[in-house]
Amino acid sequence: MFMRYWQERRAVLQTAKDIFETGLVIGTWGNVSARVEGEPYMVITPSGMDYETLTVEDMIVVDWERNVVEGEFKPSVETPLHLEIYRKRPDISAVVHVHSPWATAFAVAGQHIPVILEETAQVIGHEVGIAAYAPCGSKQLAKNVVQALGEEKIAILLANHGLIGLGEDTASALRVCQIAEKTAMIAIYAKALGAAKALAPEDVELLNRGFKHYGQKRKK
Ligand code: 13P
Ligand code: ZN
Repeated sequence: MFMRYWQERRAVLQTAKDIFETGLVIGTWGNVSARVEGEPYMVITPSGMDYETLTVEDMIVVDWERNVVEGEFKPSVETPLHLEIYRKRPDISAVVHVHSPWATAFAVAGQHIPVILEETAQVIGHEVGIAAYAPCGSKQLAKNVVQALGEEKIAILLANHGLIGLGEDTASALRVCQIAEKTAMIAIYAKALGAAKALAPEDVELLNRGFKHYGQKRKK
């Protein structure tokens, strides 16, 4: 069968396997998507399918009106949420949704994940707030999430549910989820030790700005 958008399909599949293998989800929960640049489509994981046996052919191409353009299976129930994020955030090209336990503890307690680590400041650059509760897969949840994200945030908790990370590609959106999860875990341990001290806003800004120039690529 002829299939388009292999690069996006491969990226979504790889990150979907990563969220499962690194314990950010169990079972078939969570979902991953990527925008198809220059086309009115996104590639998203199918709903409720075993991560271990997922293949590149199983990824679903969906248009902005939520029609399945390519794919044998039903797309993720969170398709409205992913679409709403791409609609409202032209700066974003990938969305990762996980149910990781430490971040979800904050989502259950109704508390923001504070910026207590340099990594949090560098990669995320803001406290991770909470989108008001609405049932999974609902349009209301999509609305609550884009409202809580605003124009600049790249991570948000879903009340009593989980976490969402945004990025320019699926690897970056995954990194956002990993750092939010690690920050939540350390915040809880630090509180148990007596205090989780947040970084000063000016240091958060400095670290976040500096991180844009961090890292180097091997010459090919
Ligand atoms: P899907 O398997 O349909 O992607 O749903 C999982 C989930 O986490 C819903 O919020
Ligand atoms: Zn979920």
